[in-house]
Amino acid sequence: MNAVGAPIRRQGPGGGGTILDRSVPGRRGWSLPPLDVPEAPVPEEHARGRRPGLPEVGEVDLVRHYTGLAQMNYGLDTGMYPLGSCTMKYNPKVAEAVAALPGFQRLHPLQPDSTTQGALELLWRLERALCEITGMDQATLQPPAGACGEMTGLLLMRAFHEDRGDARRRVIIPDSAHGTNPASVRLAGFEAVPVRSDARGLVDAGALAKLADDSVAGLMLTNPNTLGLFEEEIEEIAATIHGVGGLLYYDGANLNAILGRCRPGDMGFDIVHINTHKTFATPHGGGGPGAGPVGVKDELAAFLPAPTVRRNEDGGFSLDPGGERSIGRMHGFHGNVGILVRAYAYVFLHGADGLREVSELAALNANYLARLVGEEFPLAHPGMRPMHEFVATAKRLRDATGIRAMDVAKRLIDLGFHPSTVYFPLVVEEALMVEPTETESKATLEAFGEALRRTAEEARERPDVLREAPVTTPVRRLDEARAARALKLRW
Ligand SMILES: *Cc1c(COP(=O)(O)O)cnc(C)c1O
Repeated sequence: MNAVGAPIRRQGPGGGGTILDRSVPGRRGWSLPPLDVPEAPVPEEHARGRRPGLPEVGEVDLVRHYTGLAQMNYGLDTGMYPLGSCTMKYNPKVAEAVAALPGFQRLHPLQPDSTTQGALELLWRLERALCEITGMDQATLQPPAGACGEMTGLLLMRAFHEDRGDARRRVIIPDSAHGTNPASVRLAGFEAVPVRSDARGLVDAGALAKLADDSVAGLMLTNPNTLGLFEEEIEEIAATIHGVGGLLYYDGANLNAILGRCRPGDMGFDIVHINTHKTFATPHGGGGPGAGPVGVKDELAAFLPAPTVRRNEDGGFSLDPGGERSIGRMHGFHGNVGILVRAYAYVFLHGADGLREVSELAALNANYLARLVGEEFPLAHPGMRPMHEFVATAKRLRDATGIRAMDVAKRLIDLGFHPSTVYFPLVVEEALMVEPTETESKATLEAFGEALRRTAEEARERPDVLREAPVTTPVRRLDEARAARALKLRW
């Protein structure tokens, strides 16, 4: 969307299309000096007997095509992204600058260790810092995403039990859990056993106690949970699970509420994964690269993926190939190192005080915004104080006007904002899950609050505007189910 909210005018058939639609035979976007070596034909075995279907465009067509596409996009550099659970905060550009340093960017993973000491030291220091932040003893930096971190953590859980000759197969997860949790549990060969949330939106400790027996490998939990609420009985919950010989897994995709304040390791968790792309720099989305390091307590360290970086007695760094009990590799080489460099920059840029401030502002912003919109969109669990994100409901609005959370989300786009997460967690009707993050100013929070309140006003006064929204985007309302089910992956 451009500044006046009008759709961007594009060239080519269908008012848009691909770069191939701009192709004109014979047009060139390059100029090369005259050939000063003998012309050589493509070797027979490589020739396909036909020309590749490449677009023939001038440089200006090429640049305008891709710049036009970029201008249709909405990103963190253009506006706020209040996506609850998925956390999209503005990330300092210095993290990008550090990752782009030639010494990191031009490394090859097969270089001898003696030539990569700086990178190895960075990985080692990051591992130590992440362990300190989460209260774990050792970590692997290999998993390239949160979901892969979950899978890694669950394989560690499995290896731990199997090593003791104990084939436990059940993992308990709350009904408010992120969708990747049950999927990872299944992939790791476990059975997912749901435990319900109580009226407060917290794990029902009584129901949990009934499920806990010696067939339980562990519990997978997020705290604050996916409703944005802090599980106050976490120590009792941990005691229940440890009491039957199970382990506690912390889904630390989003640490924004607890940074520098409390640590999963101190709450009783044994395994933690972290999405560095949600908490420690790297804007994500569209499946872009991330990193999902996994930290564990000492009793699980022998099972960690290998190699890990070790500091030698002489102060140098080398790769530890891991022992027999390692679950093996979860990624080639050392994971997504460029993302880990950004995470390192973020952590050390903030320092302990700065990280503490991040969580303070994240929670303050969420609570301020929840208040601003509370009259129209009340909290799903009134009376509970949200942490870094809040789950509101559009149920009352829907009952009164027929306008649903989806319509509100689509209208927000016309009003200049990326929508919040909607219809998640599944246990809340007409859920709007909002995470403003610590990086937004008071003025931006107020503007977003104003936009949300305006949708409610419009729902009462001119609901058709919401049903038709968005009207200012290059494409109008998409059929979300069809988009997911009828994939068209090729042009
Ligand atoms: C985002 C998220 C995940 C999954 O992380 P990916 O990097 O997208 O695989 C898992 N759990 C929670 C709570 C999340 O918010």
